[in-house]
Amino acid sequence: MSCFFHFCWYNLINQVFIMPKKPVIDRESCIGCTLCTQIAPNTFKMMDDGKADVIAPFGDGEEQIQQAIDSCPVASIKWIEE
Ligand code: SF4
Repeated sequence: MSCFFHFCWYNLINQVFIMPKKPVIDRESCIGCTLCTQIAPNTFKMMDDGKADVIAPFGDGEEQIQQAIDSCPVASIKWIEE
């Protein structure tokens, strides 16, 4: 589900109660393939230097972020504990 209502409440609940971890990108190793930004566009964004960065650690649901992590061809994204 991707409606605005779902986005707000799902991510608020995730942030406060469910996700004690957040995604981070090792920008040194990012090759700018854009996959993560396609899979979790509310969490990752391509920057002017051609590499991705995290714009909102809880922008998408955990499963979607995990899918982006699993899809990164150079394993630049990982979870860190809050
Ligand atoms: S999937 Fe990995 S290599 Fe591709 S843009 Fe995202 S962080 Fe960079």
